[in-house]
Amino acid sequence: MNLKSLKFLNNLRKENRQFAVIGLGRFGRAVCSSLHRMGYEVLGTDIDEKLVTQALTQKIASHAIQLDSTEPESLKEAGIFEMDTVIVAIGNYLQESIITTLNVKEAGVNYVVAKASSEIHGKLLQRVGADHVVFPEYEAGCALAQTLTKPAILERFELDPENSIVEILIPEEFHGKTLAQLELRGRYGVIALAVSNGDKFVINPDPQQKLTQGLIMVIIGSNKNIQRLPI
Ligand code: ATP
Repeated sequence: MNLKSLKFLNNLRKENRQFAVIGLGRFGRAVCSSLHRMGYEVLGTDIDEKLVTQALTQKIASHAIQLDSTEPESLKEAGIFEMDTVIVAIGNYLQESIITTLNVKEAGVNYVVAKASSEIHGKLLQRVGADHVVFPEYEAGCALAQTLTKPAILERFELDPENSIVEILIPEEFHGKTLAQLELRGRYGVIALAVSNGDKFVINPDPQQKLTQGLIMVIIGSNKNIQRLPI
């Protein structure tokens, strides 16, 4: 069985979305190439011509354009304002990052994700309208700690800083038991949203369904309670 093809959260994504990534540093390039590999239309841009050419030769984006994102006219001409989602991947240039985020939000882009390199940078990005602010270095550090301590968590979707939806591998301790027997709610304070039967997910699973070690289940709960699961 291919676990990746069974990923529940991946399957929830909306198709035909168009993305633009502004800033092709390490972070921006990683976002670009991942989206491109997943089959999405993605436009990469940078002020540095060399990075734009590199993005095209390495085929990490569907299109790549050299522009200065602090200039609204250039963004407009490149079609950035028509994108569903724009990722502002400029971490080290505070002024450029803030102006760019302001430009795309003022032009009406629906969803803008911006990379922050410090807490104050994050606050400023929120003030100018960023819909989602990411702190990649901080988040990667936290995720690494989680993975090291809980390797059975395959995927995590953070609802807020305290609560998540996670995909976990069903542990040995749950094997052959029903959800009713396990009393996940009472014992761990988490709720099972879906259980895979090997081919697809059964949403809102029957309490009498027996679990099989190694298959996937989707759980919602506080990070503290998820941490208590025997996985
Ligand atoms: P990394 O991801 O490499 O760790 P980073 O995301 O912090 O670093 P930065 O050095 O902040 O990357 O810059 C990302 C990219 O943003 C750089 O390639 C830079 O050329 C580009 N950039 C900076 N200013 C502008 C601008 N005004 N318009 C477009 N691109 C810009």
